[in-house]
Amino acid sequence: MGDPTLHKKKLQPAPTILGVLAGKGGVGKSTITAELALALNKEGYKVGVLDADIYGPSIRHLVGEDALPRAVRGKVLPADSKGISLISSAYFPKGRSPIGVRAPIANQIIAQFIEEVEWGSLDILLVDFPPGTGDVQITLMQRLLFNGAIVVTTPEKLSLLDVRKSMNMCLQMGVPLLGVLENMSFFPVSGSKTRHYLFGKEGGKALAEEFGVPLIGEVPIDQGLNQQHREKISTPLFKKLGKTVVDQMHREKRCKIKRVDRYHFSIEWLDGKKSLYPFSFVQGKCPCIECIMKNETSPVAVEGIEIHPIGNYGVQFSFSKGCSKGVYPFSYLRKLDR
Ligand SMILES: [Zn+2]
Repeated sequence: MGDPTLHKKKLQPAPTILGVLAGKGGVGKSTITAELALALNKEGYKVGVLDADIYGPSIRHLVGEDALPRAVRGKVLPADSKGISLISSAYFPKGRSPIGVRAPIANQIIAQFIEEVEWGSLDILLVDFPPGTGDVQITLMQRLLFNGAIVVTTPEKLSLLDVRKSMNMCLQMGVPLLGVLENMSFFPVSGSKTRHYLFGKEGGKALAEEFGVPLIGEVPIDQGLNQQHREKISTPLFKKLGKTVVDQMHREKRCKIKRVDRYHFSIEWLDGKKSLYPFSFVQGKCPCIECIMKNETSPVAVEGIEIHPIGNYGVQFSFSKGCSKGVYPFSYLRKLDR
């Protein structure tokens, strides 16, 4: 039986929760998260950052802090850094190098961050994901109600295989992809419009096109730039990025979804297209991680009991038979109609 309370189990410590993901390390994901947090903070948003990159927490070094985290009545208050609330495993060094953290322990630390941090009133929570597609990433996506994720990649085609896996995981876990951000895109030349493309060109664009999401920015390589030049390029870029991300989340309107009869529902898309779906078929495509792992055949004659909206980006169904845990982003349902 479908559990109608299931969709409520995800936690929502901020009205907007945004994941920053990468397929592999070394693409500058944490720098992007830090710059984005600072830019959104400057725009007047109260921003929190959950640095979930247990294996190489680096946000703390990027932004520093004015106040350390504190434990108060069984809750953890995050660190404060220039008005940004920050939690990171870098504050809780157990033993030696954080690289030595075993996966089950990493998962425990993340679960604690999710359950025990008292964020106060945030507008936006940015979650800096560890690279890859393991247990920690699944825990985060299962426990937090994400509004979307941006995926950071570099332009060379070689890095695209890993990042594709991360993007597919988002789709399977019901986290909408807001877009691709290409980092280290080019090396700008002082005082001219010339750009040197050192690592190839347009890998991010190709990836965005493949998944049908926007390319939300191309960030230049900042090594070797002096502070003045860096500010001239980076500050407006991240300001624009912050605005893009916020606009995009507000713009995502809910499609009209309706139960037609016991066995069917319909969606009227924002572009006017209409789709009709049998509940049986959609149940068989449950995107929850357990169903993906099991790869079971779906039961026949599945009825739809209820349709629950999830934020404004997707729905969850109560089916008469089979698993009802999956969160179906509208982008996923649209793909199922092709
Ligand atoms: Zn399922």
